[in-house]
Amino acid sequence: MTAAEHLEPDWDVVVIGTGMGGSSAGAVCAHHGLKTLILEKNPRPGGACSYYEKHGFRMDCGTHLFIRGNKGPFGALTRRLGLGEPIEFRHTPYTVHLKGMGVDAKVPQNILGRAAIAPWIAWQARISPLEYPGIARLMLDIVMKKPHEIEILNNFTVEEYMLRFTQNEEIRAAFGMLLGLFFTLPPWEASAGESIWNLQKFILEMNLGYPKGGAVAIPEAFLGGARKHGATVRMKANVKKIEVENGQVRAVILRNGERITTRTVISTTSLGDTVSELVGEEHFPAPYVERARGIKPSWTAVQAKIAVKKRVIDAGSLVGGTPLKMDRKLTGSFLHEAMGSLEKGRYSGFVPIYAPVPTNYDPTLAPEGCQIITAVAVAPTLDIELEDGEQRWMDGLMESMYEMVPALRKNMLFYDTWSVKTLAVWIGKSNGSAITTSQTPDQVGLKRPAHRTPVSGLYIAGDCGGHARGVGTELACQSGMDCGDEVTSDLRHYVLPIQRIALAS
Ligand SMILES: Cc1cc2nc3c(=O)[nH]c(=O)nc-3n(C[C@H](O)[C@H](O)[C@H](O)COP(=O)(O)OP(=O)(O)OC[C@H]3O[C@@H](n4cnc5c(N)ncnc54)[C@H](O)[C@@H]3O)c2cc1C
Repeated sequence: MTAAEHLEPDWDVVVIGTGMGGSSAGAVCAHHGLKTLILEKNPRPGGACSYYEKHGFRMDCGTHLFIRGNKGPFGALTRRLGLGEPIEFRHTPYTVHLKGMGVDAKVPQNILGRAAIAPWIAWQARISPLEYPGIARLMLDIVMKKPHEIEILNNFTVEEYMLRFTQNEEIRAAFGMLLGLFFTLPPWEASAGESIWNLQKFILEMNLGYPKGGAVAIPEAFLGGARKHGATVRMKANVKKIEVENGQVRAVILRNGERITTRTVISTTSLGDTVSELVGEEHFPAPYVERARGIKPSWTAVQAKIAVKKRVIDAGSLVGGTPLKMDRKLTGSFLHEAMGSLEKGRYSGFVPIYAPVPTNYDPTLAPEGCQIITAVAVAPTLDIELEDGEQRWMDGLMESMYEMVPALRKNMLFYDTWSVKTLAVWIGKSNGSAITTSQTPDQVGLKRPAHRTPVSGLYIAGDCGGHARGVGTELACQSGMDCGDEVTSDLRHYVLPIQRIALAS
C-alpha cells in the first residue's frame, strides 16, 4: 500500500450491507459529514427487509411486523436526518389472530379491547379463573419494572423470571412462547430483562404496525437520507475481503477484484462471518476469535410467501400453530419436549407459526382484492442437520397454514418457499439465523459484542453487535446509529488528527 493511500484513502467509511444496520449506520456517518460508501451484494437493498416481485405481488424476503413504528429508533433516525417521518406505519383493527393449541381469538389493537379479550383467551387455554389474579400481577410487574430492575433481569431467562412469579405451568408456557417469539428463542434461552424491556414498549406504546410500501420502505428511507447527506450507495457490490495491514483496516476487495481503500469499515454480517470470512482469524487475538466462534445465534425459520386471490385472514397477522386442539395441556414440559425436538432438527408435528399479512396494512402490495401472507415456522439454524430433510419442514409449514386457514387452499394462487439456506444466501450470514447475536442472558446489554473490534478501523453493527436493545429490526437500526456515532467520534478524535499531523510533516 502506498503512503498516499494510507493518508488519503478513497473513503472515510465503507459500510457492508443495506439492511437495517447498514442503512442506518451509513446514514449517520454521512450525516456527520464522513465520506461514506455503502456496499450491498444483492440487486435490491434491505437485507432481511428486502423484497421481490412476482405476478404483481411484492413479496417480503423476510417476515416482519414492527413493534414501535416511528416511536422507536426508525422515527428517531429519520427525524435526525432531517426527513421528518417519511415512513408511514399502518395499523389494523385486529393486530393478531391467535390460533392453535386450543386458542382461537382475534386480539384488538386498542388496550381496552385487549383487556376484554384476555379472560376469553385464558379460558380457551384452560387456565383456571383462580389464576387470573396471578396473571394480572405478572402483567403489572412487567409494565411497572424500572430500568435498573430490568438491567438486573438481563441475567435471567424468561423461564427463570416466571418461575419466581408463578408456579402455574400453563401460564409459564403460554407467556414464555409469546415472549420468546420476539427473539426467535424459547423461554429458557431468552433474556428476561430484554423481553420485559420490549414488552413494555409493546404494551405501553401500542404501535405494532407495518409500513406503506412494504418492509423495504424503512431501509430505503434511511438510504435516501444517506444519499441526501452525500453517501454513495452501490448495489451488486459483493465484498470478498476486508484488507488489514499491521492491525489496521486498509481496503475492501470486491468479488470482481475491485479494491476500494478506506479508513474504516462497518460490517453488518454476523460477527463470526466478519472475523473468519471477511477479515481472517489471524488478524485477531485468540480470545476474540474464541468469542466470535462462541456467539449463540437465535433460531430461525422456514418461510412461505403466499399469494391468495381474496382476503382469507382479517387480522394483521396470524400467530399460533398446530396442533389446533391439544389433547394434553400446554405445559412447560410439553413445550420443552416439542421445542427440544425442533432444536435437534426433528420435525414433530408441533409447528409454531408466525404469519404477518402485509396487504392488510397496504393493499397496493398485491393486485386488487388479493392478499399476501408471509408465514414462517420456527426451524434450527444451518449448523444443525435436519433429521427429516428440508422439504418435510416446508410441507409441515404449509399443512399447518391449511389447517389454520381453512379457506386458504382453494383460494391460493401460488406460494414460494424459502428454506433457511435461501435466506442465509440472501442476507449473507452463513448460519441463516434470524438474529445473529441472539438475546440470551450472556449476550444482552453490555455483554453484547462491542462495535469496535481489536482491528483498528473495523466495526460491527446490526443485529450482531453493539449494546442496543430491541426486537430484530429495531435492535439492528439502533445498533447502526450507535456505530455511526462511534466511528465518527473515533475518526474525529484520533484518526484524522493523527493523519493531518502526518500529512503536514
Ligand atoms: C424470518 C424472519 C422473521 C423476522 N421477523 C422479525 C419481525 O417480525 N420483527 C423484527 O423486528 N425483526 C424480525 N426479524 C429480525 C430482523 O429481520 C433482523 O434482526 C434485522 O433485519 C437484521 O438487520 P441487519 O442489518 O443486522 O442484517 P440484514 O438485514 O441481514 O442485512 C445484512 C446485509 O448485508 C449484506 N451483506 C452481507 N454480506 C455482504 C458482503 N460480503 N458484501 C456486501 N453485502 C453483504 C446482505 O446482503 C444484507 O443486505 C426476523 C428475521 C427473520 C429471518
